[in-house]
Amino acid sequence: MVLAELGGSISRALQQMSNATIIDEKVLNECLNEITRALLQSDVQFKLVREMQTNIKKIVNLDDLAAGHNKRKIIQQAIFTELCKMLDPGKPSFTPKKSKPSVVMFVGLQGSGKTTTCTKYAYYHQKKGWKPALVCADTFRAGAFDQLKQNATKAKIPFYGSYMESDPVKIAVEGVERFKKENCDLIIVDTSGRHKQEVALFEEMRQVSEATKPDLVIFVMDSSIGQAAFDQAQAFKQSVAVGAVIITKMDGHAKGGGALSAVAATKSPVIFIGTGEHMDEFEVFDVKPFVSRLLG
Ligand code: GDP
Repeated sequence: MVLAELGGSISRALQQMSNATIIDEKVLNECLNEITRALLQSDVQFKLVREMQTNIKKIVNLDDLAAGHNKRKIIQQAIFTELCKMLDPGKPSFTPKKSKPSVVMFVGLQGSGKTTTCTKYAYYHQKKGWKPALVCADTFRAGAFDQLKQNATKAKIPFYGSYMESDPVKIAVEGVERFKKENCDLIIVDTSGRHKQEVALFEEMRQVSEATKPDLVIFVMDSSIGQAAFDQAQAFKQSVAVGAVIITKMDGHAKGGGALSAVAATKSPVIFIGTGEHMDEFEVFDVKPFVSRLLG
């Protein structure tokens, strides 16, 4: 179910409840079941949906609500709060400051949009007066360096990488050191997204992270991966200290559920979303407006 459809289903469920003359347990349950179905169809993890349902029922105790209370409003507010809570891990992610060079490492599976997102992130900050730089530490995929180089050149962002060197840790360290010397204030390290074995990929992430000591690790996830989102995000979080999430491909057939699962698995906020292939199709992610839009 795409985001707009999810929003539509939730608003319909709320509308149906609003149309009921009396809001009793049965009407509330019907509404919550409708919302549960919509969230599950949008690939929100079952466990999260169940938790949300329990929480709403705890907040909305129909018997305890004194007469005169606007029950519909209370229920709508509870749904809004719960959806916001699911997307807000409670602590903001590290935010780079211009006064001190920051290293930001990107991780994610091949095809997730990681390389594209690295450039978008660099470009976004460049437009705000930063001096970003890109380091290609993906030595596994042939063509990774060319892709980053091409993107970086287009955006006039300095880049570092090598066709010959096979050690990603060495390249990452060299790139970070070089750009620190050149007074770049935002050094972005793109890493490999695939390996012969998954274990080797996660070990490589760990080594690159240990050697470059990033201020922030961003996990990039394709919004269309569905129910696999939670496990994938958790696997990365277990190897490196993921501190923020970027969800890509929110245009087209994007599903909303992955975002909720990635936040739950990494306990990190979504900071941006990718909304297209172009460099500027990139938006700051803000929980409340996002949920408001979702609820229509
Ligand atoms: P990587 O293997 O994770 O580095 O992924 P790439 O950056 O090479 O991206 C894989 C494909 O997804 C490319 O064709 C990108 O143009 C495309 N892509 C990346 N982000 C987005 C997005 O937000 N929306 C759309 N529609 N396509 C995207």
